[in-house]
Amino acid sequence: MSILPASEAEFFARSTILIIGAGACGLTAALAARELGADVLILERDAAPHGNTSLSQGTLYAAGTSSQILNGVQDSSDILFADLMAQSAGSGDPILSRYVADNAGRTVDWLVEAHRIPLAHLPEWAAFGHSCARLHRNPSLTGAELHGALLRAASDMGADLVTNARAVALFAEEDGTVRGVRIQRPDGLREDIGCDVMILATNGYGANKQMLRRFAPTMADTRYFGWEGNEGDGIIWGMELGGALGDMTSVQNFGALAEPSGIMLSYEIYSEGAIQIDRDGRRFSHEIEDISGQGDRVAALPDQLSWVLLDERRHRELLTRGEYREAIELGIAKRAETFDELVSITGARPDLLCDTFREVELLAGTGTPDRFNRVFPADGSFHAPYYAIRVGPALLHTLGGLLINSEGRVIREDGRPLPNLFAGGGVIRNMAGPNSSGYLPGSGLTLACVTGRLIGQSAGRAALLRTGKSATV
Ligand SMILES: Cc1cc2nc3c(=O)[nH]c(=O)nc-3n(C[C@H](O)[C@H](O)[C@H](O)COP(=O)(O)OP(=O)(O)OC[C@H]3O[C@@H](n4cnc5c(N)ncnc54)[C@H](O)[C@@H]3O)c2cc1C
Repeated sequence: MSILPASEAEFFARSTILIIGAGACGLTAALAARELGADVLILERDAAPHGNTSLSQGTLYAAGTSSQILNGVQDSSDILFADLMAQSAGSGDPILSRYVADNAGRTVDWLVEAHRIPLAHLPEWAAFGHSCARLHRNPSLTGAELHGALLRAASDMGADLVTNARAVALFAEEDGTVRGVRIQRPDGLREDIGCDVMILATNGYGANKQMLRRFAPTMADTRYFGWEGNEGDGIIWGMELGGALGDMTSVQNFGALAEPSGIMLSYEIYSEGAIQIDRDGRRFSHEIEDISGQGDRVAALPDQLSWVLLDERRHRELLTRGEYREAIELGIAKRAETFDELVSITGARPDLLCDTFREVELLAGTGTPDRFNRVFPADGSFHAPYYAIRVGPALLHTLGGLLINSEGRVIREDGRPLPNLFAGGGVIRNMAGPNSSGYLPGSGLTLACVTGRLIGQSAGRAALLRTGKSATV
């Protein structure tokens, strides 16, 4: 049982607001709550916080940021909302999507201006469901840098962080009011900490096979490429307290994880005309129409086996880009001097592979889409030598979770909020709807930061009301 009666707690310390999880969501919530002057204690299970935020590519989207305006990009929250709803084919939660579309721009500007988080607009990226260039990243293009900046900002704002503190149970009253948490230290020692308000920021359940088998069984045996500590604890507690769940079948997949190295191929590779084939040599999709759905399609192939193919010209073009060059230096591609050698490396049927190359060559430069609706750039012919990268699917993070109201409070099936429980980021349902294909790239971190700010502000106000203090701003 992970919810214990409040009467059993032996609190040795307390904080007005307790945040469980020190990823993008928990840290953003801490910034917003500290701005209001509330006491904040963040509990993190690992010795040093990582989470999916550190593993990620650190890309958020936002409409109408100062950085976008500076670059002359025409964008608005209405266009972003339309893109979100189009990506989910209308199945994503429209209220959450609207909230994220309206608040992503001001959240990114706030992070940059108030907390010196180095996010800037990426001018060249208008793809994968985004109808204009609205992705924002930090200079090193890594989630680790973004995470480091958020940790520094939370510390600057006076939020306390305790690591090696895995939350193992919540203490609650019968009406669902959360009184505190029990943590377990690596040596097994258990400690109880009390609170006025609780924020769940423990992300989804990608590392919990049992939950995957229950909610997203088709992905349960696919390689999980997210943080091992994300075992769904926040979702389980919310559920046990009566919180409602939504879109639990949905996960973000990825269809080009180099095997066996585990390097994620950058999707820039396809902009140079790379193609992806099954074990027989056939293409099976529009490789970049839908990044997350491509993972589903690769997972459904026999043996989940797939190859990304390039030739010398494409390979040379890509070598000018850092991510591809580094991956090649690590030996992810096999070079084939001849077509026969390529057949022998991939195990493809020569007739089918030949047809695949011929189709691309015929369509290239004509502007005519292929049967998957992909249009190929001008020079489509493939000439030896070839490069083949064996890739498989990966599950990056889960997209279903608890439902929240407009304040970020966890709600029950009937819409009534739990008394003092807030949740955000990967703990709550994403905007993707019930299918992986509904995921608009950037929705993980954007949701984490936008809802992190919302729940930090709401929890800060609620905590100050409960303690009778007034906000400092
Ligand atoms: C390889 C990869 C690349 C990605 N790239 C992108 C991208 O470019 N753009 C994008 O938008 N999204 C991306 N994502 C998704 C994105 O990283 C997540 O959606 C986002 O980081 C979620 O933030 P979070 O704060 O909710 O969770 P996390 O960053 O995972 O933080 C959760 C924290 O809670 C801690 N925790 C869990 N349980 C407990 C417990 N019981 N007690 C105490 N602490 C606990 C964890 O240790 C962790 O530190 C990517 C994901 C992966 C795996």
